[in-house]
Amino acid sequence: MNPEQRERYQRQTVFPKIGEEGQEKLLASKAVILGVGALGSVLAEKLARSGVGYLRLVDRDYVELTNLQRQAMYTEKDAAEQLPKAIAAALHIAEINSAVITESVVTDINAGNIESLIMDMDIVLDGSDNFELRALICEVCHKHAKPWVYGGALGASGAVMNIMPGSDPCFRCITPDVPAPGSYPTCATAGVIGTITSVVASIQATEAIKILTGSADILTEYLSIDLWNNAFDSVKILKDPGCPVCGKHDYALLDAGAPEDSVTALCTPGSFQVAPSSPTDIDLDAFAERLSAIGLVMHNPYLLRFDGDGISFNLFRDGRAVIRGARDESAARTVYSEYIGL
Ligand SMILES: [Zn+2]
Repeated sequence: MNPEQRERYQRQTVFPKIGEEGQEKLLASKAVILGVGALGSVLAEKLARSGVGYLRLVDRDYVELTNLQRQAMYTEKDAAEQLPKAIAAALHIAEINSAVITESVVTDINAGNIESLIMDMDIVLDGSDNFELRALICEVCHKHAKPWVYGGALGASGAVMNIMPGSDPCFRCITPDVPAPGSYPTCATAGVIGTITSVVASIQATEAIKILTGSADILTEYLSIDLWNNAFDSVKILKDPGCPVCGKHDYALLDAGAPEDSVTALCTPGSFQVAPSSPTDIDLDAFAERLSAIGLVMHNPYLLRFDGDGISFNLFRDGRAVIRGARDESAARTVYSEYIGL
């Protein structure tokens, strides 16, 4: 470490469990954060401050006012500018710790791109908000022997679990049946307080620091937290020999490959993401010019917002759109084909 690094990380290196040796390992580490919302924004900040050398920030979404109650790094300015979270997070990290290399990836994580997102990383951090994506993370990390740290939060409760390569058990051992989208409560329907997401993400970040520094003290149980009742419990999870992933090495979600053009119901009721079968790089200026004839258009280099004609949507450069106020999936698809039509 150089003198500036010694000074910056002094409080952390004097902590004997990390020390200078641990700090060197953090500086040389690469982490990917899958989703930089409530958990991921805290994870990104904690890991950047701790000196993890390279952070890949992946998120499909943009900053909105409703995020600011818990998504620690973001500001009203980010929301007003509708910056993609992966971009806004990297801009803030550059101000917090300019030595950290960040890579922003504004995309929908799916079976077609997840391998390339995790392959060259030392650790995978779960900042997602749904079971389908976690099941996919579980498969890809098992296949490529990458450690990953699961985190989840809802209401005032949350949970953390490390899933280590080669050892038992995995995320699918505890969720053998992945619940269908819409069948379980989400932060939009059940609410979530900003303190639990910070606590869960701080525990995840601590586990990441332990894993990256090779500590023997990593969490080996499933930790659950009920912040409202001040209850912390951990239970030993047993490996399920019939588990599709760690038992049978069946990577069905991953093997299914990139989805065809897809419509996904988002956390906010009435909001749907419509994604083309393969990402493109569209000319937002051209779209802005065309759409401004029929409604109000605002755009930044990453996305375009359209309001008018009783329709409202955000269009990303990769061709995805978030349609708001749609009755159902088919109505969202209709808006996409009529107004965007890629
Ligand atoms: Zn398993």
